[in-house]
Amino acid sequence: MAEKIKVKNTIVEIDGDEMARVMWAWIKEYLIKPYVDVNLEYYDLALPKREETKDAITLDAAKAIAKHGVGCKCATITPDKARVEEYKLSKQWTSPNATLRAHLDGTIFREPIICKNIKPAVNSWKKPIIIGRHAYGDEYKAAEFTVPAPGIVELVYKPADGSKPTTLTVHEFKGPGVTMGMHNTEKSVRSFAQASMTYALQRKVDLWFSAKQTILKQYDSYFMNIFQEEFNKRKGDFEKAGIIYWYTLIDDTVAQIMKHPGGILWATKNRDGDVMSDMIASGFGSLGLMTSVLVSPDGKMETEAAHGTVTRHYRQHQQGKKTSTNPTASIFAWTGALKRRGELDNTPDVVKFANALEDANVKTIESGTVTSDLARLIHETPKPPEGSYVDTEQFIKVIAKRLESNI
Ligand code: NAP
Ligand code: MG
Repeated sequence: MAEKIKVKNTIVEIDGDEMARVMWAWIKEYLIKPYVDVNLEYYDLALPKREETKDAITLDAAKAIAKHGVGCKCATITPDKARVEEYKLSKQWTSPNATLRAHLDGTIFREPIICKNIKPAVNSWKKPIIIGRHAYGDEYKAAEFTVPAPGIVELVYKPADGSKPTTLTVHEFKGPGVTMGMHNTEKSVRSFAQASMTYALQRKVDLWFSAKQTILKQYDSYFMNIFQEEFNKRKGDFEKAGIIYWYTLIDDTVAQIMKHPGGILWATKNRDGDVMSDMIASGFGSLGLMTSVLVSPDGKMETEAAHGTVTRHYRQHQQGKKTSTNPTASIFAWTGALKRRGELDNTPDVVKFANALEDANVKTIESGTVTSDLARLIHETPKPPEGSYVDTEQFIKVIAKRLESNI
């Protein structure tokens, strides 16, 4: 084996739970450690560790990413009531991803991995459609009210300096109904616009932003104008990168996306992104092929798989059974972090290695060695045919073999 590739600066490694954690360890053992000499600052966010540290470890991990600029993360459990019992938790700890996102003021971009033998549901999709979701405010932080009987609903703004309030009539109810008030902040919308521009420039893809300013003349225009302001500041960078920024109405975007070849970054408002990211994910195939990256306005980055800890498979694993779980998105979390590190450190051989690993992974799939989720897609059957797939560890070993001959 050739000498290991040296990574100049630190990558923050965040470990997680269940089947995702099992895969994470194999990826490190077979695909990273033998080839790369990298200083990993390790944070174990497995649920028992979060309990032991009263969740302080999550914030420590977030601070480490802010410091070093690059991190990769394994999927973690977001505890619900059942998990509180299962793990005997003292508290229902909040989602680690929410903590990381809040600390880094980040936006999440999801991107599918394209393989020739996995046909997207939409024929025209040839390249990835990266989708960015603004993850603050709007419907997700709305004040809602069920109106029981006739009456007037008003929106009142009371300036903090004590000057005259502004009052708007929302509706004069003649009978029962429902109402809500929602908000967003300039700071959050601007961070979202900046992160979207930063990531489009990093990836050298056109940026689309869509909203409905024809209907929400103040609300959505506010978003549209901030995006335009942020774009104006970076127009030169976009020209240099040979990419464009384009604002369009959400209806128009949805119609165009269905006929588009892909290779774009689509930035969406909170609710649009929630809905559309699931459509794009299912349209491209398996959750096992969907990556996710958290980007801060100034370009700090944390990569991960979009899927969770794959609990159903883990239960099998716990019984000593082999599973056929797809590690591809988790492998791309590692390569994504390595590539970013290589770019920041100006070490092209690190980027080259990450590309070689991605290539080995995709070619393994394209040559027909696949996990059960992909076998199901290729054979278009609810259950993958017997013998059409390999188990998780075998799959990773086949990638390692191909990588060995690639580098
Ligand atoms: P999930 O782990 O994404 O799994 C849902 C189902 O999707 C699986 O049962 C499996 O389907 C399929 N799947 C997902 N990833 C796959 C892969 N790599 N290979 C093959 N099939 C895959 O979602 P969940 O079961 O709803 O959540 C489990 C735990 O993950 C929860 O505790 C949740 O809090 C956590 N979670 C964490 C994150 C994160 O850290 N970013 C994100 C989402 C969820 P089949 O069973 O049909 O094979
Ligand atoms: Mg959703």
